[in-house]
Amino acid sequence: MADVTIIGAGVAGLFAAHVLALRGLTPRILDRNGPPGPHGCSWWAGGMLAPHCEGVTADPVITRLGADAADAWSAVTPVTRHGTLVLALDRDRAELARFARRATDHQPCDSADLEPDLPPRPGLIFPTEAHLDPRRALTDLTAWLAARGIGIEAATADPRDIVGPVIDARGLSAALPDLRGVRGEMIVLHAPDIALTRPVRLLHPRHPLYIVPRAGGLFMLGATQIESASRAPATARSVLELLSAAYALDPRFAESAIVELGADLRPAFPDNIPRVTVRGRVLHLNGLFRHGYLMTPALARQAADYLITGTKGELIHED
Ligand SMILES: Cc1cc2nc3c(=O)[nH]c(=O)nc-3n(C[C@H](O)[C@H](O)[C@H](O)COP(=O)(O)OP(=O)(O)OC[C@H]3O[C@@H](n4cnc5c(N)ncnc54)[C@H](O)[C@@H]3O)c2cc1C
Repeated sequence: MADVTIIGAGVAGLFAAHVLALRGLTPRILDRNGPPGPHGCSWWAGGMLAPHCEGVTADPVITRLGADAADAWSAVTPVTRHGTLVLALDRDRAELARFARRATDHQPCDSADLEPDLPPRPGLIFPTEAHLDPRRALTDLTAWLAARGIGIEAATADPRDIVGPVIDARGLSAALPDLRGVRGEMIVLHAPDIALTRPVRLLHPRHPLYIVPRAGGLFMLGATQIESASRAPATARSVLELLSAAYALDPRFAESAIVELGADLRPAFPDNIPRVTVRGRVLHLNGLFRHGYLMTPALARQAADYLITGTKGELIHED
C-alpha cells in the first residue's frame, strides 16, 4: 500500500520518490508516458549544476539552495566536479568583467591551464560547480527506485481522482495559475577530436552559449531562452546562433556531426523560482525553469519535510 502517489516521472517526480523512499515512505509513481524519455522536459536538459553562474541572473535563493545539489545527486548517478569555465571572445571582454562582478565563488584563470584543447583565452573558473548527464541521471534514478520495488506505472492521472497524499509533478501539464513555458532549444554534436572536461560558457551580449561534454565524444550545446509556448522543432535561427557561437569558441566544431536537435518548454512561475504549492492533500512541485537538476534536491527535501513533519521551508507556498 503506497503512502504517497506521485504523478509525473520527470526529474521532479523521480527525485521526490527518491527522497521519500530514503525517509521510509512508499511512493507510487504514475506517468502517462511511462519511464523518462523525450516526452519530458527533463530529457532535454544540459545537466549543469551551476548555482554561482546561474546566480548572475537568478534570485539568490537559487545559489543558496542549489549549493548542495551535486552532493545529493552523487548518491544516485555520476557527478563530475571539475567546475565551470566561463569565457568571452576578445570583443566581448566587458561581458566577462560584468559577469565576474555579479557572480560569486570564482577566480580568474587562463583557459589553456584548464582546457588545453581550446584556443587560449582569459576566463573565470567556478571551482565548486559540477555537471551530470541528465539522461543517465533519470535512468539511474529509475533503477535506484526499481531496486526498492518502486516502479513507474504508465497511466494518466489527475490529483483530484486519487485518494490520500499526492505529489503532482506533471511539469507544464499541471496548468497551475501563473505557470508558463519558457522555450529552450539544444543541439547534440559528435566531435570526438575535441576534449573538454567541464561545461564551458561563452558570454555574448545576445547569444550566450554553454557546451556540456558527455561521454563518447558528444557535446550538448544550449540553450535558447525564449518567452514562447511553442514546442515546435528547433528553428533555423536558433540553430544558426548556437552553432555560430560554438564555432567562435573552437572552429573545430564546424566539422562535428549534428546528432540531435531538441526543443521543449521549461515550466516557470513569474519569479522563475520553483515552489511546492500546497492545496490540501496535494503538493504541486513545479516551476523548475532552467534549474530542474539544480533545484530538485532542495524542492523534494522541502516537500518531504512538509509531508512528514509539517515543516514549512521557504519553497513551500500554502494556497
Ligand atoms: C534545453 C534545456 C536545457 C536545460 N538545462 C538544464 C540544466 O543544465 N540544468 C538544470 O538544472 N535544468 C535544466 N533545464 C531545466 C529542466 O530540464 C526542467 O526544469 C525540468 O526538466 C522540469 O522537470 P519536471 O519534472 O517538472 O517536468 P517534466 O520533465 O516535463 O516531467 C513531467 C512528467 O509528467 C508527466 N505527465 C504530465 N501530465 C501527466 C498526467 N496527467 N498523468 C501522468 N503523467 C503526466 C509527463 O509525461 C512527464 O514525464 C533545461 C531545460 C531545457 C529545455
